Amino acid sequence: MIKFENVEKWFGSHQVLAGVSGEVNRGEVTVVLGPSGSGKSTLIRTITRLEPIQRGRIFVGDVDVASREVNINRLRQRIGFVFQAYNLFPHLTALGNITLGLERLRRIPRTEAKERGVRELARVGLADKADALPAKLSGGQRQRVAIARALALDPEIMLFDEPTSALDPEKVGGVLHVMKALAKSGMTMIVVTHEIGFAREVADTVWFMDGGKIAESGAPRIVLNTPEHPRLKRFLARGG
Ligand code: ADP
Ligand code: MG
Repeated sequence: MIKFENVEKWFGSHQVLAGVSGEVNRGEVTVVLGPSGSGKSTLIRTITRLEPIQRGRIFVGDVDVASREVNINRLRQRIGFVFQAYNLFPHLTALGNITLGLERLRRIPRTEAKERGVRELARVGLADKADALPAKLSGGQRQRVAIARALALDPEIMLFDEPTSALDPEKVGGVLHVMKALAKSGMTMIVVTHEIGFAREVADTVWFMDGGKIAESGAPRIVLNTPEHPRLKRFLARGG
């Protein structure tokens, strides 16, 4: 479903992806771990060409992401993205944040957009918050709205970039719970996170990134229980 082939990227003279190769199969969850600055965000941003690459190839299904012929908007429509900082529109309600994209991007009539929005809010446990403005929601609830908003657009793939890193510890569980349910439903996901427990429980594959490379990868019970790479050992000893 997603394939990286020797992907290299520089910011100026600074190489941030130094030959990344890896595959994510349909319906599988890949968790990306690694120290700050190791290239995790850059890697997942390359999938929708939010970051262009200089060498190698990236495929989403049979679409060659870097190809000039690619309809980038159509590609982006297939992929939902949830970032660390929930960027909800502050002047719109939870439901309004979801229906906006459905109406504007997908040309779905308002009544149907609202129905879909309500359904997605229920799926993330926020059926009763449809009319709440973001300021009235907790960080965890805002992040669940951001997930619902992405899901409403019916993506084939969901990318998460440290979705719980900005949250108070007691709000993390609710967001991870929603992500676990999504994984169980068969969504193809790449999740950048420091939540080792989530990786252990949900990931089909773990990638440990270091210095712009996947330094170690495999099933979580192997990578997390018997790490080989010294930096991964230290990373796990510190708790992510
Ligand atoms: P991570 O998500 O693992 O913390 P990033 O992908 O954000 O790592 O960053 C990888 C490296 O690329 C870091 O050294 C970072 O400083 C650098 N970097 C990220 N974005 C930019 C940018 N827009 N311009 C220049 N350097 C950047
Ligand atoms: Mg990052």
